[in-house]
Amino acid sequence: MEIYFYNTLTKKKEQFNPIDSKQVRIYSCGPTVYKDATIGNMRTNIFQDVLRRVLRYNGFELKHVMNITDVGHLVSDGDEGEDKMLKSAREEKKSPLEIAEHYTKLFFDDLKSLNIETPEIVCKATEHIQEMLEYVKKLIKNGYAYETSTAIYFDISKLDKYPILSNLNLEEQKAGARVDIDTEKRSPYDFALWIKAPENHLMKWDSPWGPSYPGWHIECSAMGQKYLGEQFDIHTGGIDLIPTHHENEIAQSKGACGKIPANYWMHGEYLLINGGKMSKSLGNVYLVKDIKERGYDPIVYKLFSYSCHYRNKLNFTWEGIESASKSLERLRNSYQLNLNGTDELTAQDKEKLLQIEKKFHEAINDDLNMPLAMSFVWEIARFEKKNPEVAKLLAKFDTVLGIKIDETNTKTQEIPQEILDLVEQRKIARMNKDWVKSDELRDLIAQKGYTVKDTKEGPIIKSNK
Ligand code: AMP
Ligand code: ZN
Repeated sequence: MEIYFYNTLTKKKEQFNPIDSKQVRIYSCGPTVYKDATIGNMRTNIFQDVLRRVLRYNGFELKHVMNITDVGHLVSDGDEGEDKMLKSAREEKKSPLEIAEHYTKLFFDDLKSLNIETPEIVCKATEHIQEMLEYVKKLIKNGYAYETSTAIYFDISKLDKYPILSNLNLEEQKAGARVDIDTEKRSPYDFALWIKAPENHLMKWDSPWGPSYPGWHIECSAMGQKYLGEQFDIHTGGIDLIPTHHENEIAQSKGACGKIPANYWMHGEYLLINGGKMSKSLGNVYLVKDIKERGYDPIVYKLFSYSCHYRNKLNFTWEGIESASKSLERLRNSYQLNLNGTDELTAQDKEKLLQIEKKFHEAINDDLNMPLAMSFVWEIARFEKKNPEVAKLLAKFDTVLGIKIDETNTKTQEIPQEILDLVEQRKIARMNKDWVKSDELRDLIAQKGYTVKDTKEGPIIKSNK
């Protein structure tokens, strides 16, 4: 069956034709491991997971690369500000390596609890410094880069066209351009490939330009080329990467080998919280562990995300999570009922199942239309005859959904708001090392019939009834 994807490069939905008929090669920009991943970050990872699963449903093998950014991503996403890793290391009084190890582990724990598959190849920027250096040298040799007293910059004027991925209008932008740009830069849109390190900079490597460190974009060009070749099939990321990181990755690749690295560029939209942005100052940054803390299986969040197409904004609410939790329970119940069902299926029933299976396949192949695909999952889950054949079809759909439909421990508890508030107060007391208050709150929670257990992932609340 044909597959269609919306391609950010051509701004239209196109039929997907992989370079190799058997194996699809994908590159996904992974996390900058300087802080906890949010459920927003996880939405992008869920979209990428669905992409993998849909391609496999269609019989393809996968070679999927995801990088771990552990150097070079500056606070501004551009050429200014401190390295995010160093800022976090300073604030948490740890080494950049400790920060990277800590948050990388948490990131993969989150993927696991959301049943998101790990790509075939996971690669760290700091382990590919040599490849990046070679790439920069090649850009200089090809005449696409120049040196200033602070960095090696990519010269966008050497390209036939820039930008090509985003709708950025350079002329309009120029009028409002920042005044504090490096005066040696030939254009404000030239971007750093390699940055000369100040005297006491913690992360730096020897290079032909002295002790220095890579810019943010070069890692993906170098690692993409190393593992997938000069051209591969699909490049993914969140929409915020279009005008900066991905635009510049394309520029680098054109400068190094005259090619756009991927044929299809796919981008996931943002997750909103109560209709707005997730931000620390608004106190509405949620992590996977917050979902666990409220007694939900994190897979509920994955199912919740299927209510919206990956190219549309999704609004997160706890009501939405509660409703997705009930849905997960119903889907898993239906699977169990069918597994043990004894109703006979007529030829007509079997034909109907086949038709629904085809519609499900068409929906996922139509640019990963999960909301539509879910409507067919529900038709099967609500099929009036209960029979193991129906369970088998649900299990087949689950190879795409990844919601562990065959699990039975769906029971999520209704934790009253009053208890949740007390647990939150206890969390703050523990953060402040106020153990007396923390114990008092635990006792109060126990008097009200609930037990709090502190785990690595955060507190788990259980009803004593
Ligand atoms: P950050 O850690 O904020 O740099 O985000 C890492 C990546 O996660 C970004 O490049 C986005 O693609 C993605 N991301 C961040 N916030 C959200 C969000 N609210 N919804 C969806 N994706 C997000
Ligand atoms: Zn990248």
